[in-house]
Amino acid sequence: MAILGFMDLQALLDDLAREAAPFAARGKVADYIPALAVVDPTCFGIALATTDGQVFGSGHWRVPFSIQSISKAFSLALVLARDGEALWRRVGREPSGNPFNSLVQLEYEKGIPRNPFINAGALILIDRLLSLTGDSLGTLQAFLRAESANPAVGIDQEVAASEAEHGHRNAALAHFMASCGNLENPVDQVLDHYFRQCSLAMSCGDLAKAGLFLANHGLRADGSRLLTRSEAKRTNSIMLTCGTYDTAGDFAYRVGLPGKSGVGGGIVAVLPERGVLCVWSPALDPHGNSVAGVEALDRFTTRTGWSVF
Ligand code: GLN
Repeated sequence: MAILGFMDLQALLDDLAREAAPFAARGKVADYIPALAVVDPTCFGIALATTDGQVFGSGHWRVPFSIQSISKAFSLALVLARDGEALWRRVGREPSGNPFNSLVQLEYEKGIPRNPFINAGALILIDRLLSLTGDSLGTLQAFLRAESANPAVGIDQEVAASEAEHGHRNAALAHFMASCGNLENPVDQVLDHYFRQCSLAMSCGDLAKAGLFLANHGLRADGSRLLTRSEAKRTNSIMLTCGTYDTAGDFAYRVGLPGKSGVGGGIVAVLPERGVLCVWSPALDPHGNSVAGVEALDRFTTRTGWSVF
């Protein structure tokens, strides 16, 4: 795309890596999943995949990390592609204003999660994808491998085991939704797919490429259509309003792009029609978003003017 040509994107990413990486000192690596606590907090990677097929990267942009809740953006797309609007009978699409693993709101709202990106909502996505495909994780993994052109995308078994061992809150959310009649599959099966999905390991480069369909109005890397233009718009909209949990307002204010974060320290952000950015820095703010990652995205959109606003 011509507009990209005017800027030295490689130099920009190198500058952002240098400037933003030190902000990690203000955050803390997630430790409620013990296997995530051992990750080196000084790692920093940033990648930009463009809709015209270029990939730029700086820092540890080729190093795989735990994608965690970034996976939920892809799950939403895969469910919308198969099930359309039917999903919204079982999950809302309003920002939660609460932490991603909060229990209290779910009870008030009778087992209907506020949105698909808090943990309860993601469990609904997985439950539905299980019913639709018989293998939620396998469907997601195949999609991510194809879009990133990386057949090595797979699960970090140590993280998966750690997630399962310490997944009591997620189990509570799933059981509560089952008690409300909002799960179609056995709780243990849904949780198993959830824990393993969160434990998929991918690099910034992989994730930026895998997200390109969101910048391309729903078209996949091979030119086939995953989402209608309207469904792609809706997925991006929910990323903007709910993708960073109870800091979605602040993220929109600072970055001005649809984004999805994960407690592994990654954030994917969509530049409609231009490309997809992915940043990774494991130290998190108290809400579970990468401190240096948000800083880098803020600087990127401030410097380029490339936001949705
Ligand atoms: N696996 C994590 C959890 O269930 C995902 C949370 C996240 O990345 N925000 O708590």
